[in-house]
Amino acid sequence: MKKILIIEDENSIAELERDYLEISGFKVETENCGDIGLRRALQEDFSIIILDLMLPKIDGFEICRQVRSKKDIPILMVSAKKEDIDKIRGLGIGADDYVTKPFSPSELVARVKAHLSRYERLIGNSESKNDEIKIRGLRIDRTSRRVFLNDKEVTFTTKEFDLLNYLASNPDRVFSKEELFDRLWGMDSIGEIATVTVHIRKIREKIEKPASDPQYIETIWGAGYRFKG
Ligand code: CA
Repeated sequence: MKKILIIEDENSIAELERDYLEISGFKVETENCGDIGLRRALQEDFSIIILDLMLPKIDGFEICRQVRSKKDIPILMVSAKKEDIDKIRGLGIGADDYVTKPFSPSELVARVKAHLSRYERLIGNSESKNDEIKIRGLRIDRTSRRVFLNDKEVTFTTKEFDLLNYLASNPDRVFSKEELFDRLWGMDSIGEIATVTVHIRKIREKIEKPASDPQYIETIWGAGYRFKG
């Protein structure tokens, strides 16, 4: 569950924000003092921070600046005054968004969701490049070496997985059977080029529906195979 930190010294506002966010499925923590809020923001893992500007001990400007210097999680700033918003912009302290009080709680929830998904896309991109390939209902999880078709797991042998993963990692490139054999079975292995054909057929039986009309691995006549990107 996504965890949100609200740093807000007006309890009625903090409660309103918390209620709406909890209804939307988030876990919410609140702090009403700037120094403790800052410490928790730095030490704990939150998905987003909703930050009031005027706070006891340490104000929202300083909290934003310090959190931003250490973490790139979204920070949504809340203020009662339009001038403050202009100041936040002018200072360039790295807040991702600004909401003026009074705000509608549903708007706040919508903004929180938008920032979270944008942030996840950002992180997701760098991670999923190594860990996962998702294409047209097919998901190849490289970390656990598992394959899913429309969210149902399909059992793959080691070599079948290696072959599918290799092709899918190089989409739209044609590989000859010889290349694939050299790459995946190696020079030392016992086997022959026909092994590649057999493995391709087995993979297709598992992921192509129907196997006679492949939408993932195409046969390029006289050249080899290509994974459709
Ligand atoms: Ca305040």
